[in-house]
Amino acid sequence: MPAQLLDGKQIAKRMRERLRESRDAFGDRPVRLVSVEIGQNPAAAVYVRNQRRAAAEVGIDMDTVNLPVGTTEADLLSVIAGLNSRADVSGMLVQRPLPPGIDPRTVQMAIDPRKDVEGMHPSNMGAILYEEPLLPPCTAAAAQQLIVATGMDLRGAETVVVGHSEIVGKPIAVLLLHHLSTVTVCHIGTRNVVEHTRRADIIVVAVGKAGLVHGDMIKPGACVIDVGINQGADGKIVGDVDFASANEVAGFLTPVPGGVGPVTVAMLLRNTLRAAGAEV
Ligand code: NAD
Repeated sequence: MPAQLLDGKQIAKRMRERLRESRDAFGDRPVRLVSVEIGQNPAAAVYVRNQRRAAAEVGIDMDTVNLPVGTTEADLLSVIAGLNSRADVSGMLVQRPLPPGIDPRTVQMAIDPRKDVEGMHPSNMGAILYEEPLLPPCTAAAAQQLIVATGMDLRGAETVVVGHSEIVGKPIAVLLLHHLSTVTVCHIGTRNVVEHTRRADIIVVAVGKAGLVHGDMIKPGACVIDVGINQGADGKIVGDVDFASANEVAGFLTPVPGGVGPVTVAMLLRNTLRAAGAEV
């Protein structure tokens, strides 16, 4: 029997409807998200277009600050400082990839944590060790949301996160610990990834390598969340999980595209409303 698809588009649509209600209840107070972009990146342009469309649906104003190629780190930090001090800006994000010479961590730390709607400032990241913070990292929160949507009992569930990056793998592991899941984190140094994934009730894959996880690495009935985004030779977007073989074994599976991605955008909007002071 094929896996039950975790339809991120549908889940995100329902989230946007609820966010719209919160936005309306917030009245005529401004909710503004500013996207800072350097140069032109076609892949980022698609992502920004999706964010803009989703923001409009929820009733969030989204502005773009376009900086020219050749912008230095100092220039960018000065733009961020300006946005930090603007009372009408609820949240901001700096689109990646950043050009060489600009350190992503320095940029992230320059954003006022109260306006860090991607949830990547060290103070928002650190706060997840206590409980889910007001502004959690969006992709990790999206993966968590998709797992919760299965209705599985997470308490004691064997969970394997493949990938231990700061923005995805590590925060996902911590968020799932809050559900009393038993979490194992695999990474490039793990000796035998298959040994771990085969005993997992939940697998979250965030590596950036197409087809890394195959059906024969998955326990029958497991929930598989594919965070990866890779461009195939034919230009098509695929995840880190080999969809066809995983679909025959898994109980729940996220498609790529249409899984984690749309829910991540919805989380960004939820964080923006929270940063503005709305109840969500
Ligand atoms: P990263 O490059 O920062 O980290 C990759 C991780 O994979 C590291 O922890 C590394 O140790 C691990 N790894 C590499 N090879 C491995 C192997 N053979 N076996 C096990 N672990 C291995 O990547 P990232 O920023 O976390 O992104 C991961 C993927 O998620 C990328 O495809 C990225 O595009 C995607 N992503 C998706 C979203 C979304 O919203 N859907 C958001 C962010 C990132």
